[in-house]
Amino acid sequence: MDWTLTTNAPGKIVLMQGNEAIVRGAVESGIHFAASYPGSPSSQILGMLGKIAKERNFYAQWATNEIAAFQACLGTSFAGARSICIVKQNGLLCIADALFCAAQHGIKGGVVVVTSDDPSAHSSTNEFDSRHMALSASIPMLEPTNMQEAKDMVPYAFEISERTKQVVIIRLTTRVCHGRGSVALGQIPETQRKLDVVDEWDRMVCVSFRHQVMLDTLEAARELFEESPYNHYSGPEHPEKLIVAGGTGCLYTKEALHLLGDPADVGLLELGTVWPLPEKLLLDKLRTAKEVLAVEEVDPFLEDELLRLAGREGLDLKIWGRNEGTINRVGELDPDHVLPAVSAFTGLPMPPRQKTSDVPLLTRDLNFCAGCPHRATFFVLKQAMRREKVPGIVVGDIGCYYMAGSEAGQYGWQVNNCMGSGINVAEGLGQLSAYGMDQPVVTMCGDSTFFHTVLPGLCNASYHNSNMLLIVLDNSATAMTGFQPHPGTGLTAMGDEVKPMSIRAICEAMNCTVEEADPFEIEETTALLNDMLHRPGLKVLIMKQPCATLMAKSRKEKVTVWVDQDKCLGDNCGCDRFCSRVWGCPGNSWDFKAGKAVIDPVSCVGCGVCAKLCPQGAIQVKKEARA
Ligand code: SF4
Ligand code: SF4
Repeated sequence: MDWTLTTNAPGKIVLMQGNEAIVRGAVESGIHFAASYPGSPSSQILGMLGKIAKERNFYAQWATNEIAAFQACLGTSFAGARSICIVKQNGLLCIADALFCAAQHGIKGGVVVVTSDDPSAHSSTNEFDSRHMALSASIPMLEPTNMQEAKDMVPYAFEISERTKQVVIIRLTTRVCHGRGSVALGQIPETQRKLDVVDEWDRMVCVSFRHQVMLDTLEAARELFEESPYNHYSGPEHPEKLIVAGGTGCLYTKEALHLLGDPADVGLLELGTVWPLPEKLLLDKLRTAKEVLAVEEVDPFLEDELLRLAGREGLDLKIWGRNEGTINRVGELDPDHVLPAVSAFTGLPMPPRQKTSDVPLLTRDLNFCAGCPHRATFFVLKQAMRREKVPGIVVGDIGCYYMAGSEAGQYGWQVNNCMGSGINVAEGLGQLSAYGMDQPVVTMCGDSTFFHTVLPGLCNASYHNSNMLLIVLDNSATAMTGFQPHPGTGLTAMGDEVKPMSIRAICEAMNCTVEEADPFEIEETTALLNDMLHRPGLKVLIMKQPCATLMAKSRKEKVTVWVDQDKCLGDNCGCDRFCSRVWGCPGNSWDFKAGKAVIDPVSCVGCGVCAKLCPQGAIQVKKEARA
């Protein structure tokens, strides 16, 4: 493990990724407990914490879901422990009920929630701005601009949490999680803080009379934030033009101001404490300003708060930002969006732009990996559905298989809500069979999603005998976020081996009819699917085939796949280039010179499924023992 995470070398400057900086900050805070459910862009944080947990004497856990992770943190807090919970934006929404109640009952030992927002939804289904959760739950929130702040804000968040007896949230965004920057290391405590003895009369209970306490706590946090070292102002003492920025917006704004010649009459207020806002600090500058530009990721949160403050204080201000339209309303900020906005705001002309290159960048569509079992599953599902007299309805869920809703999975599903939703949406549709709906209903989930949120839905659907088929895409991994262990894998975040849970046994215990199949056995699995679609009640089909990436690492034999171009009929075979165009594995390519199919040996992982699909038997597979 990287020494920069665990070595006590205060003052040493190292290069760190934002996610690493959070890990280092947690170590410098002397945490006792860390828990998370994987979610990009912050999946790496708990993975790294798990690897160093034994060395640094704390416990780290990949929890079954975010609620389990957060509430376990509350449990450790009751005994005075420091705990950190890491979630992505959607995970923060998952813990909403627990978070709102925690805000009201307060905490004992410090609890820090790190949430990662994904502007432009690079690795998410949607954009979301976590600041709304902080506002509505009345929980203090910090937002780092760079890697140094990402590290330093963790101990600071614990300090605020313990001074106010409240959970504190740190909001990250994708560029802070994955960007790299210089970080000066701090001190790691040599001894861990002692835990409290829980007294008979200690309480941490959500009751309505705590509502006022919660609001008073928020005001106490606001007072602390007025003096926070994470809010910076630069520019004239009484600016007429003021930019208020948060997170990466600060960096883009500084770059834009620099490119525009560092105008001396423009003030820049960088806010690291994004909720509750330090109103005195803000008003000190707003009272002289005539125009304000808000630069922030995702939603016009600061912009709206500035409008509210201006209205309340009767200030005559023109406020620019994402709502007003100067900055793109949706999608991630970048220099190409912020520079023109700052140029328009300051009235300074745009600097000339250097041309980079005429070579167009390669584009890559969303696609399953070469040899991915999900491609085969959605192929057989499509085949099975097309054999039905009455077309069926397919409900999707969240995981790698989300891509099946597009060309990658032959538009394999039609409805998708959020993680764990497929079973419930299908349950509703399945109940309509008593009211004249005769279409088969199918949904799916991955093995990790099964444990995350499908279990309660399955319990509900089985108890009410819904007419539907659940396909569990069991690839033995939480593959989308980086192969984190889950209860079916028999491993923990700290590397301990434990008894794995059987998805089959769980489904059978819930009175479901269960079958298992291999998606690579195209004919047999399609026939089984057609048979199961006609069985009444709730059926579960477990598609077992490890993730192609795991297979590629563990395969004992060398597999070579190639196209016998003498057999391949090319454009004349009547398959309309099925192998390279429709099937869509990156290993199946097209030889434009020969007008025939070809296998790309670099991409192909040797699953051999395309050989079963070629009507001419032109795709050959050879297996040899590895030397
Ligand atoms: S390899 Fe088979 S499926 Fe692909 S183009 Fe040739 S004949 Fe058609
Ligand atoms: S054998 Fe065919 S389907 Fe499998 S990885 Fe290679 S090209 Fe893709």
